Amino acid sequence: MRHSAEPFFENFLSEHLARHPKAGLPVPGTPDAKVVYKTWLKLLNQIEGLSYDTLTTASERLVAEPASERKHFTTLVAFAREAIIAKKPEGKRQDLATREGAEQASKGCDRCGGMGLTTVWRRLPVPERTPATVAAHCVCALGRWMRRYWERDPAMLRRIPDLDDVLNGRSVWLAEEPSQIERRNHYRPF
Ligand SMILES: [Zn+2]
Repeated sequence: MRHSAEPFFENFLSEHLARHPKAGLPVPGTPDAKVVYKTWLKLLNQIEGLSYDTLTTASERLVAEPASERKHFTTLVAFAREAIIAKKPEGKRQDLATREGAEQASKGCDRCGGMGLTTVWRRLPVPERTPATVAAHCVCALGRWMRRYWERDPAMLRRIPDLDDVLNGRSVWLAEEPSQIERRNHYRPF
C-alpha cells in the first residue's frame, strides 16, 4: 500500500520553514506557496516508505549541509531517500520474527524456492516402508521461522529434519540424492 505524506505534511512544512528561514521558500498563504507546496506534496507522495521521521531527518541534515535555493527541494528529497535506506536494516531484522517478514526475506531462496521446506534423501539403503525422501526445514529465514514456530510442539519438530543439521552431517538425511553422490565418488577422469 502506498503511504501518503498528507497526514504529516502541514506539520512538517511549518517546522521545515522555521528551520530554513533563509532558504527563500514561499510564505504560506500566498498564491505562490499554494502551487509550490501542492507540488511538494505530490512529489513526496511518490517516495515509498517516507515518514514524518525520515523527512524531518532530511530537513535537519539540510541545515548542516545547505543547498542552493534552486536545489533546496531536490536535495531534501535525496536526503529523505537516504534516510529511508539508512533505516531499513533495523526494520528487516525485526521483520524476520514474523511469518510475512521471513517469507519476504526467503523469496527466491535457491534451496526451497521460498517455501521454507526442501527435500532431503535417506542416507542408507531404504527399507521398503520408509520414504526415500522427506521434507526438511530450509536454512533460510522462512525455514528458521518454521522451526521456531514448531518449538511449541517438540514431537512435531523432531519429525521434520533441519537442513542445517543435514548440511553439517548431524542427520541421517542427505541434502542431495545418494545416487548423485555415488556417481561423483566413482567418477574417474582417465
Ligand atoms: Zn529456503
